[in-house]
Amino acid sequence: MGENRSSTKPPIVEVAIFVTLAVLAWYILASVEAFEMLVEFVEQYEEYDLDEVILALMCMSTSGFVYAWRRRAESLRELEKRRLAEERITWLARHDLLTELPNRRYLREFADKADASAHNRAIPTYAIYMLDLDGFKQINDLHGHVGGDELLNNVAKRLKGLAATEMVGRLGGDEFIVIVDIGCIPDVMSFGETILNAVTRPMRLDSMHAQVGCSIGVACFPGDGDTFILASDNADTAMYAVKKSGRNGVMRFDKKMQNTLFERAKLESDLTEAVHNHNIIPFYQPIVSLADGSLLGFEALARWTNKDGTQIPPSTFIPLADELGLITELSENMLYQACRDAKEWPKDLMLSFNLSVTQLSDKVLGLRIVRALGHAGFPASRLEIDVTESGLINEPETAKQILMDLQNAGVRLSLDDFGSGYSSLAHLAHYKFDRIKIDQAFIESFEDDKKRNQIIRAIVALGNGLEIATSAEGIEHRSQLEGLRDIGCHQGQGHLFGEAMPATDALVLTQTRCPERDVTIIKPINPYRDETRNQVDNPIKPEPYAEKPKQTG
Ligand code: C2E
Ligand code: CA
Repeated sequence: MGENRSSTKPPIVEVAIFVTLAVLAWYILASVEAFEMLVEFVEQYEEYDLDEVILALMCMSTSGFVYAWRRRAESLRELEKRRLAEERITWLARHDLLTELPNRRYLREFADKADASAHNRAIPTYAIYMLDLDGFKQINDLHGHVGGDELLNNVAKRLKGLAATEMVGRLGGDEFIVIVDIGCIPDVMSFGETILNAVTRPMRLDSMHAQVGCSIGVACFPGDGDTFILASDNADTAMYAVKKSGRNGVMRFDKKMQNTLFERAKLESDLTEAVHNHNIIPFYQPIVSLADGSLLGFEALARWTNKDGTQIPPSTFIPLADELGLITELSENMLYQACRDAKEWPKDLMLSFNLSVTQLSDKVLGLRIVRALGHAGFPASRLEIDVTESGLINEPETAKQILMDLQNAGVRLSLDDFGSGYSSLAHLAHYKFDRIKIDQAFIESFEDDKKRNQIIRAIVALGNGLEIATSAEGIEHRSQLEGLRDIGCHQGQGHLFGEAMPATDALVLTQTRCPERDVTIIKPINPYRDETRNQVDNPIKPEPYAEKPKQTG
């Protein structure tokens, strides 16, 4: 990487020419006896004081020579300074300032050279490793940016210390590239493991131990791409595949990964279009009182049928909308529509609405929700917002502010999926929740699993102690309903009472509900039903909605 520095001394050829010319001039003048001629000439015209004129000319030419020599030395110094400055600018443009490693621009130049030299060669020459650190954000949060920078410098040093590398570069925040001549390593995957071990070894930061993970994608060139840049893009694809499969590992690029990437790109563009065109709509799952089966309200659950007719589950498109920055628009559309639908229900029924984890980092979320309520003309007291514990962890101060804004406006709060995440008592102490929703994983198995049974009892007792209602998710069997009712759980939802249904079906249900019945059982036609799942118990009593005309939604 070191650039050649050219010499600032006068070139030897120049000096030789000057000396030769001087010797030649001396020889000619000596051979014609020029000095004697000059003396004769001066004596002949003594009255003109030519000797003084010649002396003056000699003095002037000597001082002129010294001046010219000094000017030349000065301009050479100037030129050297400019050359060094230009060299520095070129270096800066091609390197990362923090780690002093080559950057993307350097990589492009390297790629051009590799393309030129790889022409006509079929066997792979280079192995390209794309690295992305896992958990770097936490290091920054914990040790500050100075600690983060130190970690990046340590990683750079460790990578530079690896034998056989052709180039080590930093391509952005926590992304690095390592290029190796394949002939110099035993095999591509084991060298990937060597890189992984080097990066993930613990290090000391601020006299504390720190450690990051690393996802590494590998591609070879030529072989995994027609050009070096395409091959490095493919190494990037492999790196993303590592991230998706749980992070911290090494994967070699394979063509199937490209298909996955293509499908993801298509899903991203379909989702963007669906959100903009309001094609994601709320369906409603009944929430009932476990004591008497009466209908208490509905949870709005987002439903999306893609253009080709496939139903994409919220577990796929909600995180994607989060990633693409579409969640605010999606959620606002959903909430507005849900409030308009819920306005048609009897006034004692409430609407439960989910927030995603990233939404709780949006400082003005509380205001957005209150504004949507105002537009739809739906009372805040009938809205209950579901938040998960992971949403409270990321930016606790912002989350606290949002929840306070909502509560001040009269909105109720529910802690969703309790038991599946941190299950922190601190969260229950910190915020005033109106409801705890026990995660459906507990409900699935609590009848045969003593420990889970005890945990549900403990959560219900905790709720009772704190005067927070408890609700069970995913009730599919009558025995589960009875068990939960015995434990004293207040509310519940699940396929036993009904799956999420279109707004028209929900409206019919609100009009025909029978609070005095043991359990209100409804089975709407639901295209989202996962038929591979366990069968839900059949209703024991005749279904009140068997006569209901089929819905087309
Ligand atoms: P969640 O809030 O825990 O919602 C409950 C999930 O359990 C729903 O899945 C519901 O259909 C499913 N479920 C309810 N009863 C049963 C049952 O008896 N058996 C089984 N097997 N499943 C049952 P869904 O609709 O696929 O939603 C999944 C998750 O997606 C939701 O989990 C929620 O976190 C998220 N989500 C759904 N709609 C929205 C939305 O509009 N906004 C946000 N931010 N997240 C949403
Ligand atoms: Ca929920």
